Amino acid sequence: MSKIIIIGGGVAGLTAGIVALKNGYEAVIFEKHRIAGGNLTGWDRGGCHIDNCVHWLTGTNPVTRQHRLWVDTGALGGVEVYQADALYTFEHNGASLSLSRDVSRLHADMLALSPRDDREIASFIKALNAAKTIIEVSSKSNDRRASTPELLAALPLLLRYHRMTTRQLGQRFSHPVIQGFMECLFPADFGALGLLVAMATFCADNGGIPQGGSLAMAKRMTERFLSLGGALHCSTSVTEIRIVGGHAVSVATDSGDIYDTDDVILAVDPAYAFGRLLDKSYMPLPLKKLYEHPAVSRFSSFHCAFVCELPEPPFQGDRMIGFPKILREKLRSQYLILREYSHEEGFAPEGKSLIQTMHYCTEDECRFFIRLKERPAEYRALKEEIASQIAALIEARCPDLRGKLRCIDTWTPATYKRYTGADVGSYMGFAFPPKLNPVFMNGRLKGLSNVYLATQWQQAPGGLPVAAKAGEAAVLEIMKRGKR
Ligand SMILES: Cc1cc2nc3c(=O)[nH]c(=O)nc-3n(C[C@H](O)[C@H](O)[C@H](O)COP(=O)(O)OP(=O)(O)OC[C@H]3O[C@@H](n4cnc5c(N)ncnc54)[C@H](O)[C@@H]3O)c2cc1C
Repeated sequence: MSKIIIIGGGVAGLTAGIVALKNGYEAVIFEKHRIAGGNLTGWDRGGCHIDNCVHWLTGTNPVTRQHRLWVDTGALGGVEVYQADALYTFEHNGASLSLSRDVSRLHADMLALSPRDDREIASFIKALNAAKTIIEVSSKSNDRRASTPELLAALPLLLRYHRMTTRQLGQRFSHPVIQGFMECLFPADFGALGLLVAMATFCADNGGIPQGGSLAMAKRMTERFLSLGGALHCSTSVTEIRIVGGHAVSVATDSGDIYDTDDVILAVDPAYAFGRLLDKSYMPLPLKKLYEHPAVSRFSSFHCAFVCELPEPPFQGDRMIGFPKILREKLRSQYLILREYSHEEGFAPEGKSLIQTMHYCTEDECRFFIRLKERPAEYRALKEEIASQIAALIEARCPDLRGKLRCIDTWTPATYKRYTGADVGSYMGFAFPPKLNPVFMNGRLKGLSNVYLATQWQQAPGGLPVAAKAGEAAVLEIMKRGKR
């Protein structure tokens, strides 16, 4: 039986492993952490379960192709999907706006907030509906792709947003709540088209949350891989891929063992893999260009988790608020994202609730935290200081929480770097700027006959579905080369 070694047991690696096994290959995954899942994970702290990942999962709509891949890999299927009425709510000075699933309600809410923005609101809603229609075409009719006339009708509406950042989109509105609403979901320099697509996915009922959260989803995928006969070596880092005449013959691990193989799938951050596991010259050119592009950057975030001495949190779902000027300057971030988990039984102890926060860090800030971690006392002190400022901000927003919040964990881009090895602690694909056309990369590597890349970096904006599809695509490439 032909053997595939998969380096990295995140969603891309697990999907590759499952698809390989289903197609008659022997699959072996090496994962440096003690469990598989990569960024799709969670952990217990202070009596709570902290959820690291899923805010929305593209592919929860049962008639999509992505959903079938999630069911095949054990990620979905037999598990309830929580579909919130609103993806998030932005609030400012007592006023708020929610991204509700019902676009006509969003339209009415925007107009009620700011009648004088009516023309800009109308353009935005038209574009959102166009994006939603394209997504719905495939999700409502068994993956039929949008037809040329359908695409032609939508394209001019969408192109306008392809040319601006989320911040520039926000600035087109005069009302501060609508401005914040447009700017807060993604990092500031993100292309507005990406925002529109994310919103449309949610409005097309294709962005729910599987019950049990991120770790439970990772465990289901791991179980599927093992039940099909896959071999999973956790707490084992691959240190080298041995190449002879453009062909990978074996991989070496940090325990000094050598494993022969027929094919290798690289399911780790490419910025780390090329240079460490393989020579840099093998990095696909389109990827290299993106890393070197002056307008393309990576990002990560700073997180806190708080346990609250209240059985119900003071808000529902994801809340976004602006940082006051002093914190904006200090944290170099405009917005704080607050999440509560009342939809998950057992994430907080009886009579208490859990609030997690995150705010984005630019690539420079990611490097700052990574360097600071080498001075543990200073790193810890800064994390504590930021956490207490964030707690004060939450208490100011929710007076009922005064004295009832306890920080149980903080984590930073440096944590992500340590955990997954990702170069700057980034966990999504590139923060794609406007005007740049998306790049789609297959997993083949020039000059190597049997090594394939399977990562979320091969298609913007990355995330779980892109990782899973890249894992599947790498195995399909192996099958194609083997004329299967
Ligand atoms: C806070 C947060 C929120 C997110 N929200 C969403 C969301 O709502 N929706 C969504 O779609 N996505 C979301 N994501 C992104 C999602 O988690 C990632 O896109 C996805 O997990 C990437 O999977 P991957 O397999 O490509 O990479 P990873 O998860 O990084 O997996 C790579 C694996 O390789 C292992 N590894 C690295 N080096 C080696 C080595 N030398 N040897 C062996 N193993 C190695 C690592 O330990 C890791 O397990 C979020 C991520 C975070 C952190």
